[in-house]
Amino acid sequence: MNRNLAGEDAKASTGETAPSHFIRNIVAEDLSQGKNEGRVHTRFPPEPNGYLHIGHAKSICLNFGLAAEFGGVCNLRFDDTNPSKEDVEYVESIREDVRWLGFDWGSREYYASDYFEQLYEFALQLIKIGKAYVCDLNADEIREYRGTLTEPGRNSPFRDRSTVENLDLFQRMRAGEFADGARTLRAKIDMASPNINMRDPVMYRVLHAVHHRTGDRWCIYPTYDFAHGQSDSIESITHSICTLEFEDHRPLYDWFLDQLGIHHPQQVEFARLNLTYTVLSKRKLLQLVQQSYVTGWDDPRMPTIAGIRRRGYTPEAIRNFCDRIGVAKRNSTVDIAMLEHSLREDLNKRAPRVMAVLRPVKVVIDNYPEQQVEELEAVNNPEDASMGRRRVPFSRVLYIEQDDFREEPPKGFFRLSPGREVRLRYAYIIKCVGVVKDPQNGEITELRCTYDPETKSGSSQSNRKVKATIHWVSAAHALPAEVRLYDHLFTKEDPEEVPHDTDWLANINPKSLERLTACRVEPLLANAKPGERYQFERLGYFCVDSEDSSPNALVFNRAVTLRDTWAKVEKERRG
Ligand code: ATP
Ligand code: MG
Repeated sequence: MNRNLAGEDAKASTGETAPSHFIRNIVAEDLSQGKNEGRVHTRFPPEPNGYLHIGHAKSICLNFGLAAEFGGVCNLRFDDTNPSKEDVEYVESIREDVRWLGFDWGSREYYASDYFEQLYEFALQLIKIGKAYVCDLNADEIREYRGTLTEPGRNSPFRDRSTVENLDLFQRMRAGEFADGARTLRAKIDMASPNINMRDPVMYRVLHAVHHRTGDRWCIYPTYDFAHGQSDSIESITHSICTLEFEDHRPLYDWFLDQLGIHHPQQVEFARLNLTYTVLSKRKLLQLVQQSYVTGWDDPRMPTIAGIRRRGYTPEAIRNFCDRIGVAKRNSTVDIAMLEHSLREDLNKRAPRVMAVLRPVKVVIDNYPEQQVEELEAVNNPEDASMGRRRVPFSRVLYIEQDDFREEPPKGFFRLSPGREVRLRYAYIIKCVGVVKDPQNGEITELRCTYDPETKSGSSQSNRKVKATIHWVSAAHALPAEVRLYDHLFTKEDPEEVPHDTDWLANINPKSLERLTACRVEPLLANAKPGERYQFERLGYFCVDSEDSSPNALVFNRAVTLRDTWAKVEKERRG
């Protein structure tokens, strides 16, 4: 696998200006030459047979981005030519996702199915000029006649039907006289062409299926290859941007447009996005959903737009990521750490900080008055003073993270341990004076501490130094919450890399989800709305789950971690 971190051809991106790339250069050059009467008109053409994923985001940013940059427009076109796999649920999710990413197609929402009548007319036109014929070979026979990369194909025995007979049969195909797969309409090009796509490709097939838009009006459907280029032409697209696997189809699309004598968009191919630890194929993502490896298309572990939105990603982070990876002509794989970095960078600027304890251990401050509650002042975002301050209740009984205490601290561990001091964020310095354990199982149930009243944060004597500051919540005031921690969905950088007798599903990470149900969060989060994002201090960025969270039962997804220097030290030490 050809892997590169920065994204091939990507200029070092500051996130401020989009880097230049070869497609932008082509569009700029065409404009300077006065091509297309100075128009730039692109489209994003998804097939509504699944949810959009981060790879589609690259294509969306590219198509809508170029149109915006050059004063053009971009269509949203549903390439809905295959009724057996398509569904309105997908249409709706695609609309929502493109809009959420921040792009507007205005009134330019189109469907290939709206062109079925026009495409049928185009097919009749090709039959009339002797460039298309009805073929009675079945799918297996067509494949057999097609030949291979090294062997030319053979002409179909039906290739030389008369125009009159072809017109009659094609009209009867449409009228529903034939069974599924019984006949096809094929382009008459060249069975010996070195490009297999040119060996009399199928243009229409018989399929008695109900379409999500045209119902049962049609029982013949155009193939993607016959519909795609003509749809672009009908919409007066200037630049048909698509992924590299369509490079070999370009001569076919050109052939159709030339034979029909209609507007000729320029097709430009670019490398699709691949990400480490991720599959980006709708077929595979559908399999993950159908076989319940995930909870749905919007499972926060999925690379779908719906999944990463629920996870806590922002449109800004995704758009910056797409700028950063650039646009290249050669396939490569981007490190998923780059996507995570884009989110961290965005949320660092915007997410309010709060305190939350994921794996709580109780702390009792022996010398703090029983009934006393102090409202301590905390900073909402050290990166942005305009986000202001808030008050956090402090009292005698607190929770801290189990991880922040060690009964026998290893070398280099500077947080709480017996006899040691730490600072509680925004509060006081405390010292551990005792450890209470469950007599049954020996587990720590409580830490007894004392606090130094002279060390309140912000007070004149607060500058006494201790080696670590940890977060906490007040036991009486904190809210219970569930927190879901996510890891990569696959254990291998390349999920396709598997031993002989298994497939990619063998690389699914059994530990991709960890649910912590005894967490405690700052009381302020009582008002947290679904989809809101926070930094839990020292732990990462978290998002209120849009499906499962409610005011009485808060659920947070960890969108991305902060860099954890301690974990790194420990890892290096383990070797
Ligand atoms: P998949 O391979 O995931 O099933 P697809 O290409 O069949 O995807 P379409 O709905 O046809 O899905 O895709 C719509 C547009 O998005 C196409 O122009 C396609 O080239 C582009 N696209 C799809 N996957 C990627 C990707 N990984 N990177 C960049 N663009 C992509
Ligand atoms: Mg496709």
